[in-house]
Amino acid sequence: MKISGEIRDAIVAHARRDHPDEACGIVAGAEGSDEPTRWVPMLNAARSATFFEFDSSELLALYRELDERDEVPVVIYHSHTSTQAYPSRTDIGLAMEPQAHYVLVSTRECGNGDGPVEFRSFRIVDGNVSEEDVELVGGTGTVRRDQEGTARHGS
Ligand SMILES: [Zn+2]
Repeated sequence: MKISGEIRDAIVAHARRDHPDEACGIVAGAEGSDEPTRWVPMLNAARSATFFEFDSSELLALYRELDERDEVPVVIYHSHTSTQAYPSRTDIGLAMEPQAHYVLVSTRECGNGDGPVEFRSFRIVDGNVSEEDVELVGGTGTVRRDQEGTARHGS
């Protein structure tokens, strides 16, 4: 899975900020591209340290927006705050997108601070979990929703 360092950092910052609750969100990308380019942090409607749940109305709005932009959720991420960055039984049961990269972040060591963080990516297909390498690339990613259409190039 290839992702810009900028978007990776945004996901990690989101997870640190929401610790000890689990943080969740997606990174959208053009359909068929397999490139996560637009970071979309979501609310954890469960506000829980052991569980996350996308807010249903936010999710509905998101899917409408993705549809309009011909985008798909290339990355679906959430954090674990006291366990390792590996999909739980519940996570596996809820994983409905065989094309998506499921990113798990663990803030169990760093909490809200600057300590080490785990950032791992998985495919989950028919209940089978396979880990994949994460390659950080120079980015054209956008890290804020209100930067739509102003993706920074190069650097
Ligand atoms: Zn989980």
